[in-house]
Amino acid sequence: MNHSCDPNVLIKYETIARSKFYAIKDIKKGEQLTYDYGVNALDQIDVELWTVDCKCGAENCRGKLSTCFLKQPIAIQKKYYPYLPPSIKKKYRSKFTKLQGQK
Ligand SMILES: [Zn+2]
Repeated sequence: MNHSCDPNVLIKYETIARSKFYAIKDIKKGEQLTYDYGVNALDQIDVELWTVDCKCGAENCRGKLSTCFLKQPIAIQKKYYPYLPPSIKKKYRSKFTKLQGQK
């Protein structure tokens, strides 16, 4: 799957090793499946290893793609935080203070 800033697939982690993929909008036959690379690199939650200009074409394209979860806009972090694995939420608990009140 490729990246999109407006993806049609969401990855929900039950554990760090087990995840499920969900369609989050209607997907037309033949349409490319996409997810947000910025919120699924579990080894880069607080580390920015690379960035790249994003040209995904979405209306809400962020322009720069980083795989560091904590470098994403706060609205994006809040959207995806509930789907992170429990172990990651626990490990980085102090860095998720802006997301308190989330599941
Ligand atoms: Zn984009």
